[in-house]
Amino acid sequence: MSAHPLINTPLEEIPKIRDALRATFNSCVTRPIAWRQHQLYQLARMAQNEADAFCEALAKDISKPRFDVLVGEVGPTVERAVKSAQEVGEWARTEYPEVPESRKAWRPTVRKAPRGTVLIISPWNYPMILTFQPLMGAIAAGCCAVLKPSEAAPHFSQLIAELVPKYLDPSAYRVVNGAASEATKLLELQWDHIFYTGNGKVARIVAAAAAKHLTPLTLELGGKSPVIVDSAYDMDIAAKRILWGKCTNAGQICVSPDYVLVPREKQDELVEGFEKAYQAFFPNGALDDSHYGSIVNEMHFNRLSSLLDRTKGEKVTRVMEGRKDVTRKRFEPTVVKDVKGGDSLLEEEIFGPVLAIIPIDSLEEAIAFVKARPHPLVLYAFTEDPVVKQKIIDETQSGSLVFNDTLQQLAVPELPFTGVGESGYGSQFMKYTYDIFTQLRSSIDMPKEAEASLQGRYPPHSPEVVQA
Ligand code: NAD
Repeated sequence: MSAHPLINTPLEEIPKIRDALRATFNSCVTRPIAWRQHQLYQLARMAQNEADAFCEALAKDISKPRFDVLVGEVGPTVERAVKSAQEVGEWARTEYPEVPESRKAWRPTVRKAPRGTVLIISPWNYPMILTFQPLMGAIAAGCCAVLKPSEAAPHFSQLIAELVPKYLDPSAYRVVNGAASEATKLLELQWDHIFYTGNGKVARIVAAAAAKHLTPLTLELGGKSPVIVDSAYDMDIAAKRILWGKCTNAGQICVSPDYVLVPREKQDELVEGFEKAYQAFFPNGALDDSHYGSIVNEMHFNRLSSLLDRTKGEKVTRVMEGRKDVTRKRFEPTVVKDVKGGDSLLEEEIFGPVLAIIPIDSLEEAIAFVKARPHPLVLYAFTEDPVVKQKIIDETQSGSLVFNDTLQQLAVPELPFTGVGESGYGSQFMKYTYDIFTQLRSSIDMPKEAEASLQGRYPPHSPEVVQA
C-alpha cells in the first residue's frame, strides 16, 4: 500500500454528525420522491464522472485492475442508482390490501415509511459497490445515512469523504472515516438501522452493540462457499469457470469458490482443467499480469502464506504452486488437491487465491460434507442432471444456489442477495435493499359513519354476547 491520505473523523465529531443527520431526517426534507430521485441520479453522476479517480484509488489500495473496477464497481453503481431512481416511485407506492367487505370502510392502508437515520459499515474488497449499494436503498427509502467505509481501502475511503459532499446533500449523507475506534464510537449511538458488510467476528460486535438499542440490523457476511462437481460434467468448463471465480480480485470476494468437492476419479482431470485455464488466462503467470489483483495488505498476505505453510505437514498435494512476491503482495493462484475434512485449508474462509480440492466418493458424501459445516453464502454446483440439481436444492441450505458458473449471480440485481446462518441475514439488491430501509407502516382510518357497525364492541356486553 502506498502512503495514504486517510483522515480519520475526530471521535468527538461523530455524535454531532449523527445528531445533524437526525435533524435533517426530522425536517422531512428526504420525504419527497423527487428529492430521493435527484440524490440517486447524483450518486450515479458521481460514479460516472469520477470513474478515473475511483480506478486510481482502487489501483492504489488493492491493485484492482481498471477493467474490474469499471465492471464490478463503477458500472453497477451507475446502473443500479439510475434504475433505483426510475423505480422508487413504484416501490414507494402506498398499498391497499384486499380485506373482507366488512372492513373495507376502515380504509386499511400500508404506507412505506423511511426507517430514519441509518449506519452503513462496509469492507475493503469491493469498497465502492458495497458502500453505495446499501446507500442507494437508504436514499430510495428516504433515510439519512452515515457511511463508514474501510480503513483497509484508504484511498477509496478518503476519496469518498471528498466526493460525497460534492454530489449528495451533505445534511443527509456523511462519511465517517477511521478504523475500530471510530466504528465503536458510531456503534455507541442509537441508529434506526445498521447495515454491516464484513467478517463474522466483527459482525458479532456490531450485533451486540445494535442489541443495546434494539436497532434492526442487516449482516452481509462471508464464509466458505463450496463447489460440488458432478462426475458427468465437462471438467474443462467447470475448471475454467471455477478458476475465473477464484482469480477475480485474487480470490478476495465474499462469493469466491472456497473449496471443490469432486468425484475421486475425476480429481486429476479437474486439475488438468485448472492448469489449462490458468495458462489461457495468464500465459506468463499471474505474478506480473495487470489483469490480476494483489492481496490487500501484509496482514492478509501473511495469513494466506501461513495457511499454506500449515498444509505442509498434511497429506495434501500442491498441484499449482503459485509464486509470491511479498513486497508487492502478489500471490499467484495455488491449487491443493487431496484435501480432507480437518485439514487447515478447511478451518477458515480462505478469502484469497488458494483453492482446496476434496475428493469424494458420492453425491451424498458431498452433500453431507456441506451440511456438516456452517451454511455458506453460496453453494455452487456443476451438473446438468435434473435429479442431482433437485437433490441439492432439496437437501442443502445456502444464501444462494448457483448451477454451472461462479460469481455471475451478482450480475442479476433483481435477485435477492443474502446469507443464511453464519453467512448473514437480510436480503439486498435494488428493491430488496429499499425494503431493508423501509418500514411497512400499517394504518386504518375509521369513518364516523362506521359507528353503528362498531356498537357491539362497547361495554357493557350482554351475557348472551359474552357466551356466544
Ligand atoms: P474490513 O476489515 O474492511 O472490515 C469491515 C468493516 O468493519 C470496516 O469498515 C471496519 O472498519 C469495520 N470494523 C472493524 N472493526 C470493527 C469493530 N470493532 N466494530 C465495528 N466495525 C468494525 O473487511 P473484512 O471484514 O475483512 O471483509 C471481508 C469479509 O467480509 C469476508 O468475510 C467476506 O466474505 C465478507 N464480505 C461479505 C460480503 C457480502 O455481501 N456478504 C461482501 C464483501 C465481503
